[in-house]
Amino acid sequence: MSKKNVLTVKNLNKIYSKNGSKTVNAIKNLNLEVKEGEIFGLLGPNGAGKSTFINILGGSVMKSSGQLNVWGFDIDKNPRQVKASIGIVPQEVTLDPFFSPRKLLDLQAGLYGIKKKDRITDTILKLVSLEEQANSYARSLSGGMKRRLLIAKAMVHQPPIIILDEPTAGVDVDLRKTLWENVKSLNARGVTTILTTHYLEEAEKMCDRIGILNKGELVALDTTKNLLERIQTKIVSFLIDKKSNIINKELSSVKVIADDENKLIISYEKSKISIDEIILELKKEHIKIFDISTDDGDLEDVFLRLTKD
Ligand code: ADP
Ligand code: MG
Repeated sequence: MSKKNVLTVKNLNKIYSKNGSKTVNAIKNLNLEVKEGEIFGLLGPNGAGKSTFINILGGSVMKSSGQLNVWGFDIDKNPRQVKASIGIVPQEVTLDPFFSPRKLLDLQAGLYGIKKKDRITDTILKLVSLEEQANSYARSLSGGMKRRLLIAKAMVHQPPIIILDEPTAGVDVDLRKTLWENVKSLNARGVTTILTTHYLEEAEKMCDRIGILNKGELVALDTTKNLLERIQTKIVSFLIDKKSNIINKELSSVKVIADDENKLIISYEKSKISIDEIILELKKEHIKIFDISTDDGDLEDVFLRLTKD
């Protein structure tokens, strides 16, 4: 059962040319597909071209070449239908401080020509947990609430696709979690979600598939699971009954991180040695193992490898 593509990007290029100074090739021959219902993450270091891509979709930046199809509409032939199909949550928070969330959503609905009776203001406010603040001035909202209000604003015309540019940049850890939950619940309602982030943890927790952009080039495109599989370095800690001599053994790729009476922490490359072989070495020393825990590493390993110069 294959789901249909809701976004198809073919040979997309963006060259910024500034007067007098040299040009910036911000997107280089990007090819990408996003499927209905998924959470797709576009990752990359600062300057990778993430916002440029989002802004091309949103219509505020003109592509230099290539094709973009959103929800079945070509961006060159049907720009209005493309606009109606997506809700964009921009990277920068820009809100009129004297509008309340309800007022702001009503204005936005007006902009999209949505009749009063067809508006779902309360539903949206509830979705982003801002019911209680519905009538407060935007300036009195916390940073996290403002972000949520921007998400709400992007939902007003009920687009099937929502695109979030760095949704949690500058948001503290607790609020980040709340935001993730909000986005997940939107997605659970069937909204295809595309987000950019440079927080790897965010991508790992949220995204079904990930594309990694580096200097305008797509350097990886895979499921989050497969990308994590590529991680080679594993860390394992053992709770043991006496000090091990493993540090003095020549075991391929094994590095000792901590080496106490009761605790041994090592790292190893899974292509070089298996956990079985390591356990066997400890058994040879007649060491009792009370507990083993492993740290699978995270996307950071993959990311650093793919985006380093
Ligand atoms: P990201 O969002 O991944 O941090 P951006 O899309 O903002 O990356 O930027 C990609 C590249 O394009 C950077 O080199 C940036 O300096 C350049 N760039 C972005 N916007 C403009 C612009 N309006 N004019 C010229 N260069 C730009
Ligand atoms: Mg950006």
